[in-house]
Amino acid sequence: MHEALQYAKLENNGVKCSLCSHRCTINDGKHGICGVRLNKHGTLAAMTYGKISAEAVDPIEKKPLFHYLPGTLSYSLGSVGCNFHCEHCQNWHISRAGLDGAMLRPLEPAEGVKRAIASGSASISWTYNEPTIWHEYALDMGTLARAKGLGTCYVTNGYITEEALRELAPMLGAYRVDLKAFTDEFYKKICRAKLQPVLDSAQLARELGLHVETVTLVIPGLNDSMAEQEGLIRWVIGHLGPETPMHFSAFHPDYRMTDRGATPVATLEKLYKKAKELGLRFPYLGNLYRNPGENTYCPNCNAMLIERQGFSSRFVALEEQQCTHCGEKIEIVRHVP
Ligand code: SF4
Repeated sequence: MHEALQYAKLENNGVKCSLCSHRCTINDGKHGICGVRLNKHGTLAAMTYGKISAEAVDPIEKKPLFHYLPGTLSYSLGSVGCNFHCEHCQNWHISRAGLDGAMLRPLEPAEGVKRAIASGSASISWTYNEPTIWHEYALDMGTLARAKGLGTCYVTNGYITEEALRELAPMLGAYRVDLKAFTDEFYKKICRAKLQPVLDSAQLARELGLHVETVTLVIPGLNDSMAEQEGLIRWVIGHLGPETPMHFSAFHPDYRMTDRGATPVATLEKLYKKAKELGLRFPYLGNLYRNPGENTYCPNCNAMLIERQGFSSRFVALEEQQCTHCGEKIEIVRHVP
């Protein structure tokens, strides 16, 4: 059994987990909302420590991370479980899988780092399912990875608590956070969670010096009003900074949400234009086929800096962190600090 971090013992063998903002109180023999943290006689066990369900070497653009080690590979791992229960989950086969499924196989942190290096990856990403609930494992592997000069990325729903994020920050390079909507109603109804803790974690990640990129899946009829998205863009500019890459992605019907069609390209292009008008330096469009909204343009002279097609990148006019046309400094992490 691997004992969890981030919890307190209560009376009668109860525990209170402080890893994510659900802050579950868990009775003996029960697990938290995420399904992977189990109270064993008053000790909280991290049941997926050292257990993976998925392993791949992805272009980092697939996360999507466009301003963190662009054009490199990221050794990517996933496990099972999630602290959100979103109706449109695109990875439901692992996020909803139980511990007793045949999906899990062992991988020690040091072996993960070895495989990342052998694969030619520049970073390790904890992705596919929610990494927050894999805290102890990611922390151990990430600490080893940083010592070997690798970057480290979380692809997260942002529900981690302040204390857990502060514990994680010394080993974490990039925080790719979903901003699923800008209303509490959406978070409550669709994810069974709250909006504010997500905003708080994104802001804290930024304050702690992590590279932050946001992703919003634009769902017709649920979060696609211009007023809501404008509010979200203004919040990002004001709290995370105008240089924060914001990805607006097309929705496709999935899991339990099949009652609506895909996001029209026109909606996403309108959002892109609005984000630019409001002063966001790097808006991006995602889940589209060959759209110019995937490329990086210089916010000063509009020269194309990086051309993207699918997950492949071509550096056109970017030298380290500078536009070669006008000399503008571009906020992009090219090397692991
Ligand atoms: S990680 Fe979150 S959902 Fe899981 S037990 Fe802890 S507080 Fe509950």
